[in-house]
Amino acid sequence: MTYKNFIDNEWQDASSGKKFGVFNPFTEEQITEVPASSDYDIDMAVRAAKFAFEKWSGLTAGDRRDHLRTLANSSREHAESIARTISTEMGKPFKDAMTEIDDLADYLEYYSELARDQVGRIVAPVDNRSMSLVRYEPYGVVGCIIPWNYPLSLMGWKLAPALAAGNTIVMKPSEVTSLSILHWAELVAGDMPQGVINVVTGYGQEAGEALVKHPQVPIITFTGSVQTGKRIARLAADNLKKVSLELGGKDPVIICDDADIEVAARGTSWGGFVNAGQVCTSVERVYVYDSIVDRFTEALIEETKKVRLGDPMDNDTDVGPMASEAQFNNTINKVALAKDQGCRVLIGGKRSEKFERGYFYEPTIFDNVKPGMDIVTEESFSPVIPIQKIKSFQEAIEFANSTKYGLGCTIFTKDIERAMTAADKIKSGTVCINNPLMENIAAPFGGMKQSGIGREHGIEALEEFREAKHIFIDYDHSVKDWWFGDKSE
Ligand code: NAD
Repeated sequence: MTYKNFIDNEWQDASSGKKFGVFNPFTEEQITEVPASSDYDIDMAVRAAKFAFEKWSGLTAGDRRDHLRTLANSSREHAESIARTISTEMGKPFKDAMTEIDDLADYLEYYSELARDQVGRIVAPVDNRSMSLVRYEPYGVVGCIIPWNYPLSLMGWKLAPALAAGNTIVMKPSEVTSLSILHWAELVAGDMPQGVINVVTGYGQEAGEALVKHPQVPIITFTGSVQTGKRIARLAADNLKKVSLELGGKDPVIICDDADIEVAARGTSWGGFVNAGQVCTSVERVYVYDSIVDRFTEALIEETKKVRLGDPMDNDTDVGPMASEAQFNNTINKVALAKDQGCRVLIGGKRSEKFERGYFYEPTIFDNVKPGMDIVTEESFSPVIPIQKIKSFQEAIEFANSTKYGLGCTIFTKDIERAMTAADKIKSGTVCINNPLMENIAAPFGGMKQSGIGREHGIEALEEFREAKHIFIDYDHSVKDWWFGDKSE
């Protein structure tokens, strides 16, 4: 494998020669090192992307579609190799990593077709002798900054609409999953015209900030934490850049007294523990009607016992190690704080003793949870589910809306009136009824409140990456007749 930056379809070390380590969270060993890039390297990549933009944006949408299809096909061809790198680098079970590549390819195919269909519109003219066209134009070089929890999927969510709309890309992967993106670039991105996709690895505060500040990058699309999102928004304000932010969540699940308890327990366990709880739309807090809380809790504990921790490369593994030592320590600290604040551990609550090494944390359930505790207000991004009792539907809605986040939520009920009232009243970008964490490539995904600005997926994502221009055509050159009047006499 090549462990260099991918700039202008060539492999380059960081100009400073600096590197940082990439680790395997299953073995806790260093795999290799990748470039720790600086503003100089970002500048090289932006120049390449800017040069490539002239040609790429001038292609027809059909020609771009052909390139993106090739990218999708070769991503699928190399899926196993790329998925192995993801599993090795961040501990995700191999079978789940495979779905990331499928996701990426789907997005490339979907947006390459959508962009052909959606190029502009004609609106009602101001008079009978003119026409108003609305045309969508790409911004130029898009700066993409992505996290580590779904490296290939989340790259695809940005890359596909941005490229389909005619932009070129400078991508700054997470420090934790730089290798996954470089490996993908090595296997497939060379098929793309020179400079259209560039990957520069490095620390957020150095390479990431250089990308955000670069004057030739008019738009930044970011996925990551609320804290970093705020920093990026502040930096981008200096140049009044367009910014789209996909940030953290604290998704609630409401279990009503008429819910199918087995289904709700299975859904909650999966939604809270998949990817070791490192999902922006993870189940982060559960509100259960008083009358069924004991039955539900028992069912959830039984489901939790079934979750198999193990080697990410093993097909029977449901959940691998946490992605990094930092993430593992974050979980340990959050659980310790919850216990200090009075929560009771019903299952889990500690490092898994099944393994001698690797950042394995046991799926954890808490009760004795009170409003205002950190475990129900701050994102944990961990395999931890706090359960809180509720007395009424009104209370459930109030609790659901009680955090600064607004990414997603789920309600389990058979009552359509309750379900749709929750959909009306809960302030979040997605509302799932009877099945958590559901997404649809054609439906917008994103956050309300501090969970973000902008949307991914659907036609909405394409709109993020292009600007509308009004073109006014006057048929008979009647320049301001109505102002000057007839001056012939
Ligand atoms: P993070 O904010 O620490 O880092 C994300 C990216 O930003 C990384 O590439 C990092 O290098 C870069 N970065 C860090 N500081 C920067 C700075 N000052 N300037 C520019 N770039 C900088 O987040 P993370 O730990 O990688 O990811 C976890 C977070 O991402 C969680 O909060 C999770 O909820 C969120 N997330 C959101 C979504 C969504 O779609 N809403 C999806 C996945 C993850």
